[in-house]
Amino acid sequence: NNEKVNGPIAGSPPRGKEPGWNDNIGYFIKKRLSVWCRLPNGKWDLGKIQETLGDEATISLLSGTVVKVSTAELLPANPDILEGVDDLIQLSYLNEPSVLHNIKHRYAQDLIYSKAGPVLIAVNPFKEIAIYGNEILTSYKQKAKDSPHVYAIADAAYNEMMRDEKNQSIILSGESGAGKTETAKYAMQYLAALGCGNDNMVYEILQTNFILQAFGNAKTSRNNNSSRFSRVVQLANDERSYHIFYQLCAGAPSTLKDRLNLRMASEYKYLNQSECLVVDGVDDGMEFHKLVDALDVVQICKEDQEQAFAMLAAVLWLGNISFQVIDNENHVEVFTNEAVENAARLINCSAQDLMLALSTHKIQAGKDFIAKKLTMQKAIDRRDALAKFIYTRLFEWLVVQINKSVKVGELSTGRSISILDICGFESFKNNSFEQFCINYANERLQQHFNRHLFKLEQEEYEEDGIDWTKVDFEDNQECLNMFETKPLGLLSLLDEELNFPNATDLTFTNKLKQYFNDNPCFKGQRGRAFGVCHYAGEVIYDTNGFLEKNRDPMHSEFIHLLSSSGCQLPKSARLSCQFGGLETSIQSVATEFKSQLFKLMHQLDKTTPHFICCIKPNAKQFPGLYEDDLVSQQLRCCGVLEVVRISRYGYPTRMTHQEFAGRYGFLLTETNISWDPLSMSVAILKKNNFLPDMYEVGYTKVYLRMGQIERLEEQRKQF
Ligand code: ATP
Ligand code: MG
Repeated sequence: NNEKVNGPIAGSPPRGKEPGWNDNIGYFIKKRLSVWCRLPNGKWDLGKIQETLGDEATISLLSGTVVKVSTAELLPANPDILEGVDDLIQLSYLNEPSVLHNIKHRYAQDLIYSKAGPVLIAVNPFKEIAIYGNEILTSYKQKAKDSPHVYAIADAAYNEMMRDEKNQSIILSGESGAGKTETAKYAMQYLAALGCGNDNMVYEILQTNFILQAFGNAKTSRNNNSSRFSRVVQLANDERSYHIFYQLCAGAPSTLKDRLNLRMASEYKYLNQSECLVVDGVDDGMEFHKLVDALDVVQICKEDQEQAFAMLAAVLWLGNISFQVIDNENHVEVFTNEAVENAARLINCSAQDLMLALSTHKIQAGKDFIAKKLTMQKAIDRRDALAKFIYTRLFEWLVVQINKSVKVGELSTGRSISILDICGFESFKNNSFEQFCINYANERLQQHFNRHLFKLEQEEYEEDGIDWTKVDFEDNQECLNMFETKPLGLLSLLDEELNFPNATDLTFTNKLKQYFNDNPCFKGQRGRAFGVCHYAGEVIYDTNGFLEKNRDPMHSEFIHLLSSSGCQLPKSARLSCQFGGLETSIQSVATEFKSQLFKLMHQLDKTTPHFICCIKPNAKQFPGLYEDDLVSQQLRCCGVLEVVRISRYGYPTRMTHQEFAGRYGFLLTETNISWDPLSMSVAILKKNNFLPDMYEVGYTKVYLRMGQIERLEEQRKQF
């Protein structure tokens, strides 16, 4: 069985040689079959073996060059007839260069989708290709087309939801710029068209995307339309804040501008700090008009729209508020200027109250509260926290409004399909608390992927008495444990530091180095840095600012300020100000993040997952450019080779004997009422001449290889 699982001559670098391959080299020479040859520069090239001498082989490459390499650097290539197959499980030889080549070959013909067993691989084309729209959508709906496509995945999710009466999820993974959000949009487009068959509804749902992107996406150095979540107050060079700010400044009609005291984007500190105000090919003013249209479509009334814009303007003006030192202890006061006046007016409180909220904090002394002046950095942090707080509430409010408008989750079946598109794994030159959280979330998602595609599957075979040899995969459990263990995990230790008045980012880092010294997932670094070996590679984190960022930024005084001010936040957003603040004020940011993540995972656990692995073929966002190294690293991250192996030799269809007998029992002409479901299952399989290799009968379930269930379904349809 082991032979079966690994395949006699299937190899995967870096392990290089797989059992059996060496014995086959003679056959490859004799038949003049192509092989993959790893050149000293690490790249794979096609060639033919001329001769071997001991461990050394002489290869004539396709280009005509002849090279000598160790036989360990050779892997079997697939016959031409298999070039560009739809599903990688069809490859005779499964190894990294073959997989890379197959995807590249397809990509060159604009076939951006491929299957890796149950997983859809989507390679970002960075250009428009004519594979979407009503006509193509319909052909998937009518099953006239079945080549790999995000539509096919959405269709499968829908059908399985109806057939199994179970909620479904479509989970997108991939680096920043890989195409998760675009792909999610096409999945939504398909589902919207299926679910209601009503063009207006489809249009409305797609318009919601536009709104969410305006408020939730920004230009980064890796993606001009990146889904982000924290960037109101601080920007890296060459990056922008959320699109909506620039759209508002560029597109607001002059009357609105007057009412909000709105200036050009270049006049706001929150926007001009990165020296990047425009995105190539994007007209923010035009986008603003589209946004207003979209807000109209989802029935957000003009009054609420204006209030939302007023809050955005308030955020921008807050950023322009500055402070002056008033004593030799670095205590500050707010500089009185138009920024404070405008911000206060937009928030609808007095300038005096706002100034006080930004430059002092209240301390309890006995029964009384006294206001203590803040130092410069604390005041700046507080101003920024207020800006983020307002923006967050505004975003939450928008989501609620949109959900109300499209009545999400009100399918007549009571079932749902969730689409999950979160920030992908990030590894920059400088990685901070944000990357730490994002990468932790991705580590959890990877675990979910592993569990479904490897762990659960194999455990189920074993428990049900199926003869099965395990397929190895990169388990990231150890790394997850390092984050989550209590009380000595990364997250708990970070929280613990909040209790020590003298703790600093450095004392925190030193603690980590002390506790995780022997942990293979941890890499101590000099100074305030530490490294984590994530499933997708090692990331070095600079802990500068970790403690402060982890502290809850919501100050009860803001909540008081906003809720008593009759502030212009749309009414329901104001309510969430009050409740949101009170509920979360005790939790640290990391803990809050973790508990949200757990809620999400819990919800996902109750669904049948469909995975889409988005791949970014180059870092330049260019069409037609496919960089082997970059792609292979991403394929390795999502364990594509292992998934293909497992699905090639596994049993994707599993039904309990009851289900199986119930659904296909009609195929038996002579049934014996004393038969138990297991006997019926066996009889159905025998009667339909299933080859012994194509199924297994477990204690509780029937297991079928890929493509087998269709034979029975076909007959059922005709019946
Ligand atoms: P992030 O994690 O930063 O949010 P992402 O994975 O969501 O990144 P997208 O915003 O979906 O990435 O894609 C980046 C860009 O790639 C898009 O703006 C678009 O230009 C292009 N793109 C992605 N998928 C497609 C597609 N199927 N067809 C055409 N262009 C695409
Ligand atoms: Mg995105």
